[in-house]
Amino acid sequence: MKPKVAFFDFTGCEGCQLDVLNLDGEELIDLLSAVDIVNFREVKTEREDDYDIAFIEGSISRESEIPRLQKIREQAKVLVALGACACIGGINCLKNHLPMEEALKIVYGKDAKYYDTIPARPVDAVVSVDYYVRGCPPITAELLKVIKALLLGKEPDIPNHPVCVECKMAGNVCVFERGMTCLGPVTRAGCDAICVNSGRHCWGCRGLVDDPNIDSEKDILKKYGLTVEQAVEKFKIYNTYAEVTK
Ligand code: SF4
Ligand code: SF4
Ligand code: SF4
Repeated sequence: MKPKVAFFDFTGCEGCQLDVLNLDGEELIDLLSAVDIVNFREVKTEREDDYDIAFIEGSISRESEIPRLQKIREQAKVLVALGACACIGGINCLKNHLPMEEALKIVYGKDAKYYDTIPARPVDAVVSVDYYVRGCPPITAELLKVIKALLLGKEPDIPNHPVCVECKMAGNVCVFERGMTCLGPVTRAGCDAICVNSGRHCWGCRGLVDDPNIDSEKDILKKYGLTVEQAVEKFKIYNTYAEVTK
């Protein structure tokens, strides 16, 4: 019998789920031949409460999301955090810099009293997570790699070196040479430095490597006459949760 797979959305833009649908035709057919997708709100209305593998998109930013997530964890044999919001809290955590009442007022104005909100957090701040598919949105090749590994009962091989390695391999001129800051030295690779390849810098959407060399990032900033504050501003975009809890 094929494993039953469910996708659930919490607080996010739903771009990670769209990413699943962006798998090319053959990849999608391969996936559908290997698993039964029993829950996927963006795709189908029928739902089942019996599933083996749960993908969670989005961070947890409302009180009511906590018991919902705990119930999914109880049911799923394997739980996968899908995307930056789920893996590291992501951009939703920017609101954590404000008192929650103020964040609500900014978004909902006079209707703020009808909504509840709590400081946003990644999925593993609430329940245990078995696998992480990182990025905003994730790279579809990595998503497939994780799905294949978990169907085979193997550990997926996810890079734990910095984006700089892939960036150098792509032959980019470092953006520090252009007076910009970049989080590549401390961010987990696996995206082939896609943002730098496109003329930008790394915002850290895949989260930190396990043992980030913060001193090296500081040395680079110093060498190019940039300040730690400039890097921290970029770090906040995706990694506020790590910043405010460490
Ligand atoms: S990780 Fe990015 S693409 Fe995915 S839900 Fe969050 S904001 Fe959207
Ligand atoms: S700091 Fe950024 S631009 Fe420079 S090598 Fe690393 S990833 Fe590339
Ligand atoms: S370069 Fe940085 S911001 Fe861009 S996808 Fe890779 S990890 Fe994310």
